[in-house]
This record gives sequence, structure tokens and C-alpha cells, in this order.
Amino acid sequence: MIVRGRWVVKNYREVVEDGAVLVEDGRIVAVGPYEEVVREAGRGHDVVGDRNKLVMPGIVNSHTHISMTLLRGYADDLLLQEWLEKHIWPYERLMKPSDYELGALLGVAESLASGVTNVCTMYHYHPERSEATALLKTGMRGTVGIAIFSWDREGTLKNFVDAVRRFHGREGRIRIASSPHAPYTVDPELWRESETLRREYEERYGDGGPIILATHLAEDWREPEMVRERFGVEVPDGSIVKYLDGLGVIHEEFLGAHGIHLNDLDIEILARRGAKIAHNPVANMKLGMGYADTPRLLEAGITVGLGTDGPASNNTLDMVETMKFAALINKPLKRDPRVTPARTVFRMATEYGAKCLGYEDLGVIEEGYRADLVVVDMDRPHLTPVYDVYSHIVYAMRSSDVYATIVDGRILYEDGEYTTIDIDDVMDRVRKRSMELYEEVRGG
Ligand SMILES: [Zn+2]
Repeated sequence: MIVRGRWVVKNYREVVEDGAVLVEDGRIVAVGPYEEVVREAGRGHDVVGDRNKLVMPGIVNSHTHISMTLLRGYADDLLLQEWLEKHIWPYERLMKPSDYELGALLGVAESLASGVTNVCTMYHYHPERSEATALLKTGMRGTVGIAIFSWDREGTLKNFVDAVRRFHGREGRIRIASSPHAPYTVDPELWRESETLRREYEERYGDGGPIILATHLAEDWREPEMVRERFGVEVPDGSIVKYLDGLGVIHEEFLGAHGIHLNDLDIEILARRGAKIAHNPVANMKLGMGYADTPRLLEAGITVGLGTDGPASNNTLDMVETMKFAALINKPLKRDPRVTPARTVFRMATEYGAKCLGYEDLGVIEEGYRADLVVVDMDRPHLTPVYDVYSHIVYAMRSSDVYATIVDGRILYEDGEYTTIDIDDVMDRVRKRSMELYEEVRGG
């Protein structure tokens, strides 16, 4: 397959004009000027895209909960803990495994239509129906975090083991992550136990890629206090990262979502250990939690990816919108428009996102890399004229400008059509099921 564009954006600083990408067996085998790539390819290649398109690496949503599309718009404008404990968790207790998969199917569809090729998601798990089965069925790439909680330590640890055995490394697209939910829902002993298990299974199943630890970190400024109250342990120097580091869980394969309330010591430890942060500007604003100081994290040398968080706290999975928010959010408070420039944000959404998920061969358009690509239609009023493609991708593009989404060299979405999802059926089922659950949760 040849993927063609007026611009082929290889990475945050290289653009090939009138370029093309040659894809074979799910890998990028050549990238360069269109004529050259066509010559190299020889005959018999399908061409996706044309001279009005832009080709870029697939967008990585480095923190979300795709099954939660079912809860989109169900409870808004509430304080985080009240939102979780009084609204989200009671609803989730009524959900069946088939709902995990159904919500995830809709989440995949929404993601693909906005140029997302890879998600790091986290949810409850069932062997037969889960986010992993939805990803497997649809051809999308994803790292599926298996949520681990103190209130069901045996059950959730068992889920993790089962998920690794069944799904880790499947089709080269699916990976499992260990996901202790947050410092305040997982006791110190369970952090240690889950980490021992993660390392053991990474050793055994590492051929399928790293098994990262994906969790929530410093979303709430009261985390040190909650840990103290709930588990009766001290958080040294008021540093939630130092506390977790003492449990042996801060390392290169640690991905913490949010990273809002971090002090100097927290940042210093994260940087020293090579840990990663997923920045979720839209959800953070919606829940009024503050937001990550991304310029400071990046300056400290921490890899920062971008995420939407779940569709119950965003309320979409729109990573194009997220790029714009990520670029804007730090400028006013710092009174400096130079922070988080477009190229940096583009890099966070692609290359850094892939790095957050432990991929070495993803996130840029380069020979030998996995062919996760997005084709954008540039023939639009709001994308005219073009001086700087990075500026357009971050500040002017809308997710509806995505023309095609390709994962592992396979077209999953093109010109409004899905190739692996019966979207009308999925939306019908979601409408019906969400109303049933809504009645049930209100009645109970
Ligand atoms: Zn989250």
C-alpha cells in the first residue's frame, strides 16, 4: 500500500512535500517523495490519499477508559470523589462484561474516526468480554490496563494474570498493563504484590512487548492525606512519588496519568527513574483538579504523553481537541505563549505517546517502523492556507478532518466508513443498554 499526501509529516521536525509512505506487511518500508516511492514500489499497490492530504503518524491516546463511553454525559460538574463514589462506581457495579466490550467498541470507533491508532486504556476485566476483546476484534492497537483495587485484591490480581496469558502480544497489537488504580485505592501491600506479579509475567511473556505499569498519579492534591487515612502509613516528605518509589514501583515502565500535584521531589524522582506521565488537560479542567505543569516535566527530562481520560470525564475521546488544549493550558498561567509550542505537543501526541507505552518502533514515520498512520483531509476552509503543518495539526485541525486511519498497515477507517465495525449496530446497542443501566441505577 502507498499512502500519499501533499505533506508527509515524519516526526516533529521533518516533513516530506508531495510525499508517500510505502507499507508492506504492516511495516513502513520506504518514505520519501511520491515519485520515488512509486518507482521503488513497482506495480500493484493500492494508493490511499492524494495531493490534498496530509499523512502523519497515528495519534496515541496514552490514558483513557474506552469502555466508559456508556457513561458519557451521565454525571457531570461534580467533585472528583463524589463523582466517583456516588455516581460512577454505583453505575459500574451494574455493568456486565458484555457492557465492557460494547462500550469499548464504541470507544474504538470514536478513536479511529479522530486519528487515534493506539490507546492505553484501563477498566474492569472479564476473560470473555473486555476492552481487550474489543481491540482484538476491531484491529486497533492498544495497551489494556487491568484495574487492580484493594476491595477485590484476589479477583483483580487473578484478572491480570488471566489477561496476560490470553491477550498479551496478540497479533502484535494487544498488550496488557498492570493497573493498580491509584495510590488511594490500592494499599501498600497490594502495590508490592502486583509489582512482583508484573515483573514475573513480564519475564515470562516479554516476547509480546513490555508489560507496563499504568496507573493514576497525583490527580487529587489530597492523595498523601488519603493514603495516610485509609492505610495508616506515612507519606514521606509529603511526596506521593517518594512513597511509591519506596514500594519499588517507580521505574521506566511506570506510566502515571495526570501528574498534576507534583512537588520538586516528586519530579526529581520521576525523572531519575525514567518514569512517564500522561497529561489529560480536558478531563483535568472538567473535574477542576488543576493540570500538569508540562513545561516543567519536559524540562526535567520526563517523557509526557497526551490522553483524554475516560469519556465520562471529558466527555469525548477526541485527541485532536486534546492537542489544542495541551498547547493552550499552560500559556495563560505562565503568561508565556512560548511554552508547549505546536511541535512539542505534536511530539507528545505521537512519538512520546508511543514511548509512554513502551514502543520502540512506533510514533514516527520511519523505515522499519510499524505502519500506524493517519491521513488528514486538508481541503478545508479552516485549514487554508498552509504555512506550517504543525500549527494546523495542533491549532486548526478538527478530528472530523481525519480521512483515513491505518493500523499495522490495515485501513480501519476511510472516508467515513469503518472496515471492521458495524457502527450503526454498535450505536443502537449502546443507546439501548445505557438506558437500561440508567433506569436500574436510579431505581436502586
Ligand atoms: Zn483515568
